[in-house]
Amino acid sequence: MSIACCPSPLRDPGVYEECACGKCQRGRLRVIKTPQYFHPPGASTVAVQLLSVRCDYCGFATAYPSQHKENELRRAARKSAYGGQMLGEEILAFRHKWGLSARDAGSLFGEGLHAFEAFEKETAYPDMLTNKLIRLAMHSPPVLRQLADREGVRIPLWEREMRSGLAAH
Ligand SMILES: [Zn+2]
Repeated sequence: MSIACCPSPLRDPGVYEECACGKCQRGRLRVIKTPQYFHPPGASTVAVQLLSVRCDYCGFATAYPSQHKENELRRAARKSAYGGQMLGEEILAFRHKWGLSARDAGSLFGEGLHAFEAFEKETAYPDMLTNKLIRLAMHSPPVLRQLADREGVRIPLWEREMRSGLAAH
């Protein structure tokens, strides 16, 4: 009988399964939960328990693909505790959708050069007015366009997004 070992590109053991360590062949991969804390303003601290595995012999640490997927769902689920505040991932997705650099996004919304990095990592949160403005731009490309034109910022993926938007209607 062969002992299943991880990580293997052919086998995803499932989020909670512990198996033999494929690195050292001596230990077992133990499932560990690491809390990630978020502090959205106006809400209590949110802890998300992220799953990974670590070998109890060699210390090799990784996360199965199924754990990555589960962690993504867990992170997304915290939104219910955020009130009107946006997740860092949502702000990042918005910026990437238009191909904007963090710097340009910062100047577009009248924030500092490093503001978006902080918003996306949630080491800082946009104030109420900035939050409103970003949301408005998220839902209305013309608003984004006006802000960009005013700041002399080029939106790299503007044409592409406009074309795909038209195709969708
Ligand atoms: Zn090991």
